[in-house]
Amino acid sequence: MTSDLPQSINPLCLAKTRDAIVGKIKLNSLSRTKTVLMNEEGELKYSLKFDFDKSGVCIIECEIETELILECQRCFKPLEFNVRNISLLGIIGKGKELGTLAKEYEPLELDEDGETTVEELIEEELLLSIPLSVLHPLDKCAGTNDLDKINVEAKVRPFSGLAVLINGKD
Ligand SMILES: [Zn+2]
Repeated sequence: MTSDLPQSINPLCLAKTRDAIVGKIKLNSLSRTKTVLMNEEGELKYSLKFDFDKSGVCIIECEIETELILECQRCFKPLEFNVRNISLLGIIGKGKELGTLAKEYEPLELDEDGETTVEELIEEELLLSIPLSVLHPLDKCAGTNDLDKINVEAKVRPFSGLAVLINGKD
């Protein structure tokens, strides 16, 4: 089953037939994620598999895969961030407490009609997979390179001075 968004789904119905939804979403259609992106181009691939566990809880295996352009919090330049995440969502039944859900599931509440949208599901998982602060690796960060340059110059100068002294003596 492949489909365009936005798309309301009923996880309980889909779990009865152990259905799966596979598709792609444009990153610029994810309104909450857009605020942290430096570039909104690109897509996210997803797969949602619906089932019931042994205790009868409706579960969704949610897999997302994408590449985001985030802002490095050290040099404020673009940073490529790969997301590949699989999570297991457990649906909280009406009137049931959060604590009744097994710990390995992320809790998911449905609206009054027992529905949610693919977009909402995916974006929630995507936001959870983005760290609060992203940084380039030290050797690739422009912020660090500037600092390194200063450090290197500071270290090189005394030696070059010494070289002049030595050469002067010769
Ligand atoms: Zn950086």
